[in-house]
Amino acid sequence: MDNTASQNQMMMVAVNCPGYKPTCKDLTNTIGVENSKSCDNCTHWEEHHCNINLFDPVLTSLDQESFNSYCVKG
Ligand code: SF4
Repeated sequence: MDNTASQNQMMMVAVNCPGYKPTCKDLTNTIGVENSKSCDNCTHWEEHHCNINLFDPVLTSLDQESFNSYCVKG
């Protein structure tokens, strides 16, 4: 594996991230905030990493249990 964040990781982090700022309001209105949140559509996501360095701390703060339950829901 390289160090590129997976789609699941980006969604999990964005949902739990205090710094999340969506780049597109229409996207969240249309699909639903919880389902569309991802670092991929956050203003702080640049060149495949978080430009305010929140990705790693938020990801490590998520325990495996919440990650699993999130995935089962989808
Ligand atoms: S890009 Fe950074 S600020 Fe935005 S949701 Fe991801 S970790 Fe949080």
